[in-house]
Amino acid sequence: MATCRICRGVYPQDQFISGNGPRYLVCNRCGIEQGYVSTDETPTFYDDATVRGRYTVVARRYAPWFWLLIGWMLWALFFVGTPLWGNAALAVLILSTIGIPVIHLLNGAKFQANLRRLSP
Ligand SMILES: [Zn+2]
Repeated sequence: MATCRICRGVYPQDQFISGNGPRYLVCNRCGIEQGYVSTDETPTFYDDATVRGRYTVVARRYAPWFWLLIGWMLWALFFVGTPLWGNAALAVLILSTIGIPVIHLLNGAKFQANLRRLSP
């Protein structure tokens, strides 16, 4: 890990351009923005499409946990006292709480493969 001189970001060594003088300790993105290198010279550069793709993959993996948390909070706030809808919502929430970790574990390999596919 090293710190970029320009943006102060901390990245692994393979995210830096090589060279001395102004190119010393400059990350891929700053190197491209400052015109020190072109995108062809930086094989490890995460371009915008790759970054968006990775965000999507990560968001899709963790969204069920977020919705589960929201569901429990809504249930505790609004449904805990109502007999019929409270029990129905509780049943759905308990099933989701059991099901989501299982699905999360089963999709782990697919998630890793997607991230690897989206790594330059
Ligand atoms: Zn930088």
